[in-house]
Amino acid sequence: MAKVNITINDRQVVAEAGQTVLEAATEAGIEIPTLCYHPALPPEAVCRVCVVEIEGQRTLQPSCTFPVSEGMEIKTHSPRVVEARRVALELLISDCPMDCTTCEMNGNCELQDLCYEYGVNPEEARFAGEKHEYPIDDSNPFIERDYNKCILCRRCVRACEYMNGVEAIGSLWRGFETKIGTAFDAGLQDSPCEFCGMCVEVCPTGALIPIERKGKGREWEFRHVQTTCPYCGVGCQLDLNIKDNRIVQVRSVWDGPANHGLTCVKGRFGFDFNESPDRLTRPLIKKDGQFVEATWDEALHLVASRLSEIKEKHGSDAIGVLSSAKCTNEENYAMQKFARAVIGTNNIDHCARLCHAPTVTGLVTAFGSGAMTNSFDDIAEEAEIYFIIGSNTTEQHPVLGMRIRQEVKERDAKLIVCDPREIPIADFADLHICQKPGTDVALLNGIMNVLITEELYDEDFVEGRTENFEELKETVLKYPPERAAEICGITPDEIVEAAHLLAENRPGALLYAMGITQHTCGHQNVLSTANLQMLLGNMGLPGGGVNPLRGQNNVQGACDLGALVNVYPGYQKVTDPAAREKFEQAWGVKLSPKVGLTVVEMINAAETGEVKAMYIMGENPMMSDPDIKHVEECLKSLDFLVVQDIFLTETAQLADVVLPGVSGFEKDGTYTNSERRIQMVHKAVDPPGEARQDWWIVGEVARRIGYDGLTYSSPKEIMDEAAPLTPIYGGISHDRLDTQGLQWPCPSPDHPGTPILHVGKFARGLGHFTGVEWQPPAEEPDEEYPLILTTGRVLYHWHTGTLTRRSKGLDAIYPEAVVELNTQDAAKLGIADGQIVKVTSRRGEVTAKVQVSDKPKPGVVFMPWHFAEAAANKLTIAALDPTSKIPELKVCAVKVEAA
Ligand code: SF4
Repeated sequence: MAKVNITINDRQVVAEAGQTVLEAATEAGIEIPTLCYHPALPPEAVCRVCVVEIEGQRTLQPSCTFPVSEGMEIKTHSPRVVEARRVALELLISDCPMDCTTCEMNGNCELQDLCYEYGVNPEEARFAGEKHEYPIDDSNPFIERDYNKCILCRRCVRACEYMNGVEAIGSLWRGFETKIGTAFDAGLQDSPCEFCGMCVEVCPTGALIPIERKGKGREWEFRHVQTTCPYCGVGCQLDLNIKDNRIVQVRSVWDGPANHGLTCVKGRFGFDFNESPDRLTRPLIKKDGQFVEATWDEALHLVASRLSEIKEKHGSDAIGVLSSAKCTNEENYAMQKFARAVIGTNNIDHCARLCHAPTVTGLVTAFGSGAMTNSFDDIAEEAEIYFIIGSNTTEQHPVLGMRIRQEVKERDAKLIVCDPREIPIADFADLHICQKPGTDVALLNGIMNVLITEELYDEDFVEGRTENFEELKETVLKYPPERAAEICGITPDEIVEAAHLLAENRPGALLYAMGITQHTCGHQNVLSTANLQMLLGNMGLPGGGVNPLRGQNNVQGACDLGALVNVYPGYQKVTDPAAREKFEQAWGVKLSPKVGLTVVEMINAAETGEVKAMYIMGENPMMSDPDIKHVEECLKSLDFLVVQDIFLTETAQLADVVLPGVSGFEKDGTYTNSERRIQMVHKAVDPPGEARQDWWIVGEVARRIGYDGLTYSSPKEIMDEAAPLTPIYGGISHDRLDTQGLQWPCPSPDHPGTPILHVGKFARGLGHFTGVEWQPPAEEPDEEYPLILTTGRVLYHWHTGTLTRRSKGLDAIYPEAVVELNTQDAAKLGIADGQIVKVTSRRGEVTAKVQVSDKPKPGVVFMPWHFAEAAANKLTIAALDPTSKIPELKVCAVKVEAA
């Protein structure tokens, strides 16, 4: 970068050519006041507060936009500049209501601070005159808008446009009437607003405030704790503002490595579940069908004695243990060690089985490592094309979705979306392929057919970095676009166009989520995504890769730390004698060589009597598993069920003993996000009542069974034990994890972590192509059940709804389940939008309100699965992928009729 020499306030400064005066001054440590400027936003130069005097310029210039040039002489605080700033501030406060004493932002108002600094007294303001009398808008559950305090800096408008990308707000009207608002000045809830809260974050006054913080404290009373968001696998860093043991507000962490200040509505506003009156505060023991409160000693003794009895009588494998993708790495390590070392079984699993089990099996087969290959930053910044298949990115991984949306808009990166619904990100796509659920292999084979027959693939990469190409070629040549299109219910041209876009734009990042994995062919689907990216040479480089977007906050970490039936921490196989011996020595016990039962297998085994007891920590199979009615029957047939959670979930209600654990805001530890980044979780508030740390509870049960090796004093101590046993975490310790975290593999204390996998060489050596044939789903529509049900998540809720349904704002804005039905299907069935309908499958029925639109493909019905009162998983089928054992949650046959 060329340098220019400038003088600021008689000081010589070397700046970079192209910098603005403000940037050069800030870098040199010279302060220039700003108001409409925000470092994360493009400058707009409307407030005139940052003006400076530049030698040779007739008028004062806004430093936020004026570029430096060689020899420039700048005065930042000359009398002329200071007077101009005073005038600008006087004009800005001329119609301000000046209600600082009651304003929520008192103490954090940038206008107030500048008026103080420049001695601008509102009582003496020369320009005071007419004032606005806008009504305060609190018609939505999250953001109060008081435009009487708005100074029209348009930071909020720019945040909405350049950070989120939805452009929900803009400037309305003209002159004195100018105000910020939505189209037709409607409420935010009636606009495209996604309530990410970035407008609130950047507002310099009290014009936009979070409703939840009102009256809960003054700025200077807040304690700040940085932690990792407890919701999705993006792993956003959050700044929790705390007063009196309550989270009052969530603010942005601008150097958060995964989010760079962005949050979605759940991370920003969905924290109030933490103080829900439903929180469990004491252990519960069921007596005569009713829960009664118990002491910890009673409850722990009962759990330990019943598990010991069952182990003694029926053997270790008669007990199943579910760990949790919501819990920390340290808690997961403790729980899998409990199952293996204390109970003596590998019946340890968690909900990764229901979301990304095929990612592990498929990507290990193809590449030798079952995780997201690239980082959010390189995907966002360097991909020339995004190929999104089976991921509703802006609703399920919203911050990543925002970043991709921005790159498509600003950088003109290309976007292909393959999804059976018009999901929101499809609005930004160059090509939306609306394939039938369950036809992904055919679609991907069709695209690869074009790439191979037209010789558009990366021959050098295939030649040098992969093996088994001939098998792939032989298979995909059976899927010319016409055949593939017929299977997928699309046109051959769409397949050809996708292939051409992918070939012309490299590198390209492939992103997928559960639309790919939750099928009886989930393993095959994942292999196909790997085939495509190897064929395009999109592996081992920035902006490329196969990127499975992990669902829950710590689903990656729960897998890494061994909460799986076949592997110890670090994916070391339980069937490998050397690995077994290593853990036997570390834990001081003999370990079982037998691969355990998966989530669905364990629950089915409860019905047959093979499994007699289960210990479930932080999971809710009564909502998350397929065919819930059957799950209920199975869990009820157990001799003993213990559930450890923060709420009396649908599963906990069936338990014999319920142990109150702590929330993500009440614990220390680490989560590993989707991009393999291990990040710190910091305790922000104390847990309610007698709720206890989950690792402590597990350790106490173990101790009472007679094993002392799970008695720890802190999560740090657990990580210090786990890391040396887990090669990919070998260099991880709490002391090393600063605000940026570390991405595994990080094998040694001096290793910097690995942002991109498979650079130069795949983990397994050569990338392995597999010829994959399309196979139909386990249950296809027929005369009796003519529609395909597919399930998923919505922006405002998370997983089984345990947390988000207890967040006032989130539940208010999306209060009930809906059934999405295509317009053509609705017309055939005589069903009108808003009507209550009954959806029936071979396994059960639910009723909910119908939403008729062209969003789902004809023949496809969509339901979110967060709502216990209309639980979509009453309908889904428990057919399993034979390799990964994931159930086919994305496809089953249903009928819809008026209720
Ligand atoms: Fe939390 Fe995910 Fe939203 Fe980030 S994108 S704030 S991690 S829910």
